[in-house]
Amino acid sequence: MQSSGRFTKKLKALLSSSYDECRSCNATIARGEPAYAGYSESGEVRYVGKCCIDQISELASPIYWSWEADKRVAPDTILWRYMDFAKFLHLVENRRLFFARVDNLGDRFEGASGLADREHEWDTHYLEFFRDAVRNPPNGHPSPDEKTIKLEADKLLAKLKQGTAADRKRMFVSCWHANTGESEALWKLYCLIGSTGVVIKTTAANLVEALDETFDIKLGRVQYVDFRTSFAGFYDRIFWKRKSLAHEQEVRAVFDSRFKDESIGVSLLVNVEQLCISVIPSPFAPSWFKDLLNALMKRYELQIDVQTSELLEDPFF
Ligand SMILES: [Zn+2]
Repeated sequence: MQSSGRFTKKLKALLSSSYDECRSCNATIARGEPAYAGYSESGEVRYVGKCCIDQISELASPIYWSWEADKRVAPDTILWRYMDFAKFLHLVENRRLFFARVDNLGDRFEGASGLADREHEWDTHYLEFFRDAVRNPPNGHPSPDEKTIKLEADKLLAKLKQGTAADRKRMFVSCWHANTGESEALWKLYCLIGSTGVVIKTTAANLVEALDETFDIKLGRVQYVDFRTSFAGFYDRIFWKRKSLAHEQEVRAVFDSRFKDESIGVSLLVNVEQLCISVIPSPFAPSWFKDLLNALMKRYELQIDVQTSELLEDPFF
């Protein structure tokens, strides 16, 4: 079956909550087997295994989920984005959500394959893989001599590494914190006491839905790993971070710009009302700040609930 490459927001949302599960019969799709994303005859979105492939009449693409980590995010996962007031103003004024270029996110390990100390292990693994591929050409072509095999494999590895380094300059990320409630630690990190910051509350489904479907966006839960014992997944390195950052509980939207080369980041059109289920002023901001936010919502004609931080709730004794 030909792939159409057509991904609607609904199909993307289905993808980010499925991975190894056939969404038609709930069977687990075996490692090594692709899943199939597409549409039924009546145009309904489908994500199925081989078991239910007859339900697909338009194939968007086979999904090689087993090359990737389990990044699934349930659609109703509550996500938070803490930001200073200037960034929030940028969002409501321009109706655009900022995605930072990966090498500007502030973590040296963003997009890394592993620890420098273990680079030779990684290289050896891929060299062997490439030598094998060059040694065994398809369709009965003769196998090249050992010198050519080595040369070709070295070339392929060099190209691969060039690509992984370049990814840091063509991928853009919007980071969110998955949590059922507010985080005092993140308030303190992003909105210093006395300053004016906000947190936006959304869900995984709203985030996907609010962004224009023409953008190539992947939503996924970040994997926190010990690079002393693991390498990042090759096809989803951008979703792997060091274990020391596990407290971030991050879900990220990744925009692959292909060949564009924006230096700091890109701002993508977003439906602000759909994105923001509510906005909460920092509990550490002066008390007039909430009124200002309410006035701002009126000025921009946005139906967004301005709530009070749960940190300001009162105890009883
Ligand atoms: Zn099935």
